[in-house]
Amino acid sequence: MIHIAIIGSGPTGCFVAEFLAKKHDAIQIDIFERLPTPFGLVRAGVAPDHQQTKRITQQLERTLQRDNVRFIGNVTIGQHLSYESLKQHYHSVVIATGAFSDRPLPQNHKSITGIYGSAAFAGWYNSHPDHCQTPPVINGPTVAIIGNGNVALDIARILAKSDAELTTSDINPDALCNIRAANLTDIYLIGRRGAENASFTNMELAELGQLQQCSILTDINRLPTTLPDAADAGHRRAMEQNLQTLQAYGANSPIPGQVRLHLMFNYSLATIQSQSGQLESITLTDNSGLTDPFTLQTKTLITAIGYTCAGIEGVPFDTKQNCFSHQEGLIESGVYCAGWCKRGPQGVIPTNRSDATATAKRILADLAQNTDNKTGFLAISPHLSGHRWVSFGDWEVLNTAEQALARDERPRTKLTSIEQMLALLP
Ligand code: NAP
Repeated sequence: MIHIAIIGSGPTGCFVAEFLAKKHDAIQIDIFERLPTPFGLVRAGVAPDHQQTKRITQQLERTLQRDNVRFIGNVTIGQHLSYESLKQHYHSVVIATGAFSDRPLPQNHKSITGIYGSAAFAGWYNSHPDHCQTPPVINGPTVAIIGNGNVALDIARILAKSDAELTTSDINPDALCNIRAANLTDIYLIGRRGAENASFTNMELAELGQLQQCSILTDINRLPTTLPDAADAGHRRAMEQNLQTLQAYGANSPIPGQVRLHLMFNYSLATIQSQSGQLESITLTDNSGLTDPFTLQTKTLITAIGYTCAGIEGVPFDTKQNCFSHQEGLIESGVYCAGWCKRGPQGVIPTNRSDATATAKRILADLAQNTDNKTGFLAISPHLSGHRWVSFGDWEVLNTAEQALARDERPRTKLTSIEQMLALLP
């Protein structure tokens, strides 16, 4: 029997497991997860109003239910089990831990209240236990968001949606109350480059136009009239579509009573002003050189400028590339990586499926030469005695509890702390 350990139960970890479980006859796959809940960023990163995207969970669940796949939640490698012990007792170890910490701003702002990274902010409204114990405070009436990627769009959209537009979401109810209490009038989405270089995908950018209580505004005079030479036709088409959508937004006027969402391009955050430790305003410089630097009054600033990967003690890490050191997915003999911790935090779920498949194929080829006698979970489970690890059956108890807590059309109300989750388990 071949024993595989996968660290991380997000889509990438599950895709690797699915491929190996189907392609190898005599294989046992153990998926270790730091939280008591599976599915990584599908659960805590995909926006709560994007339930269609979250449907992939059903497929990931089928993988975790396979006879030869075991979910071992609430276990942190490096804390409850060592990386060395996994290497010793498993034929292959696959790291699929993603990227879940915020890339920091260059400005030193740690002591200022009112500035939040997107992982913390989106993690909070998505009920991630790491981010619900000391929740962000949204001080209205304005919020500034730095970054021009899909995460920035997600946050702006969630802040701008009305209650009616969120009835079928699984947003954290406490977060929703705080968003309402902030009485937002203006949301500023600030990109440091021109609109043609925004990394929004068009579907997400166009979705803003459907918002019922929000005026989408952008300065039409700051949109490019010609496109730069793009790397390929696909990239060019993507830029054209975004610019068409933005041109339409440029013709909008604010509608009284609606929250205004300002899409701003070619502005960089220069300085941050605070008073008594509370953010007061930010100063922006115009990278196109058209206007002088100006100050935007805001007590809440959210950075959505990408994520960083966390290392694991003993595993070679490339700090420059912000991912594990590897050669085409191989970190060292018998140890592999896949997904965002391999390529950096770029790409959507299907991108990670193909990446996971590439790593899984490599593992399969290498396993052909592996004749070691290893016993996997049998050997390492004594290290977990006395620690309440969470099985797939336990997750089903939590899943049912969350669904039972849901009111009206909500699919679930998520549990927000590990203690709360463990208390519900037998
Ligand atoms: P992203 O697409 O890489 O966007 C990061 C943004 O931050 C870019 O606009 C970047 O600008 C900007 N930035 C970086 N450092 C900055 C700094 N110091 N100052 C100002 N701006 C800075 O990353 P993301 O939005 O975190 O998304 C991660 C991945 O998840 C992406 O592939 C995204 O498509 C995917 N995702 C998809 C969905 C969806 O499909 N609905 C939702 C969420 C996320 P530059 O371009 O100038 O560097």
